[in-house]
Amino acid sequence: MKVNCRLCDSKKMTQFLDLGHQPPSDQFVRAERLDNNITYYPLRVVSCDQCKFVQLDHVVDPEILYQDDYPYVSSTTNAGRSHFDSFAGSVVEKYKLSKDDMVIDIGSNVGVLLDGFKRRGTKVLGIDPAPNIAAIAESNGIPTKVAFFGHGVADMVKETHGHAKVITGSNVFAHINDLNKVMEEVDTLLDEKGVFIIEVPYLRHLFDFMEYDTIYHEHLSYISLMPLVPFFKKKGFEISHLDEVKIHGGSLRIHISRIGDYTPTPIVEEMITSEERDGIHEQENLENFARKVKKNRDDLIKLIHNLKADGKRIAGVSAPAKGMTLLNYCGVSKDDLEFVTEKCELKIGRFTPGSNIPVMRDEDLISHEIDYALLLAWNFKDEIIKNLPEFRERGGKFIIPIPEPHIV
Ligand SMILES: [Zn+2]
Repeated sequence: MKVNCRLCDSKKMTQFLDLGHQPPSDQFVRAERLDNNITYYPLRVVSCDQCKFVQLDHVVDPEILYQDDYPYVSSTTNAGRSHFDSFAGSVVEKYKLSKDDMVIDIGSNVGVLLDGFKRRGTKVLGIDPAPNIAAIAESNGIPTKVAFFGHGVADMVKETHGHAKVITGSNVFAHINDLNKVMEEVDTLLDEKGVFIIEVPYLRHLFDFMEYDTIYHEHLSYISLMPLVPFFKKKGFEISHLDEVKIHGGSLRIHISRIGDYTPTPIVEEMITSEERDGIHEQENLENFARKVKKNRDDLIKLIHNLKADGKRIAGVSAPAKGMTLLNYCGVSKDDLEFVTEKCELKIGRFTPGSNIPVMRDEDLISHEIDYALLLAWNFKDEIIKNLPEFRERGGKFIIPIPEPHIV
């Protein structure tokens, strides 16, 4: 389904990057379904002519994207866990939250962020659409409501749990199609002087560090600040504070509150002004990025094919959603990678969507005498490399695909 601009409803949007047709990146295929046809959807990035918001113009039905066996479980790395803990700590401190304050996390996954709040004494509630993931959260002691945020859940939650002092959303705002509805639900649920805090990958990092693999169907919007200002204003909100954080290659934590509740900190104006000054929304900048994406693909395929021609054995390490964009867009096939490894048990034994590469365990790098490991979760590269000492001692090397394909 094609859509208007998610923020300003303009029909006029200009495409600058086409990543082809791809299957949903989290649909790891079970062996018995390998012969079934899977559906490919367009993956195109456009910029709104009016407000400059960067987004996908094709929306895949969330019921298809977030089905019951959705395999994404956050916090599988130490870096991820410590990130969420410091997120919770900084919010509790900044807003002086106490035991009477409710924190609601949307897209709460297995409850890692809320666990950080709970341990610091606040009340917590998770909202997540995936029943299997919510069940894990409940078993971790995090009460979780199974629902899509932005579909009328706010009134229900307000009845049962009261208002929230803080609503968080880590890597979820950019995943929701109807952002108007999201802000209406936030307004319903937020207490007086409440704060809505979203953590989103920043468009600037996407451009600066060539993170084009973070473009996939779940990820509908690519956030910059300038287009958000008039959007939030229309909803009675404003950006009151910003933190730059180092997760997922570089994200922004945006604090949003009702106009006038808090005096915006100086960094808000500084960062908005710098976006304009540096011309990040200019057509020329967008096209330049698209050119570099094509070059990255050509360079990576050449590197892999040269290694194969030398008789080297290659596998992938880690299988995040973004790795699937990279494999499918670059045309990396099961002839190139013998398998990819993954720690997440839900993915092991399945096959990567589109490229049909088997998902195995890290130990298989050794037993299959792999020479080169293509590191797909490059944002956790230090931790992953450190955790594979035996592979390194055997002379194994890593191919890092982003920002430019290189070997370490
Ligand atoms: Zn727009």
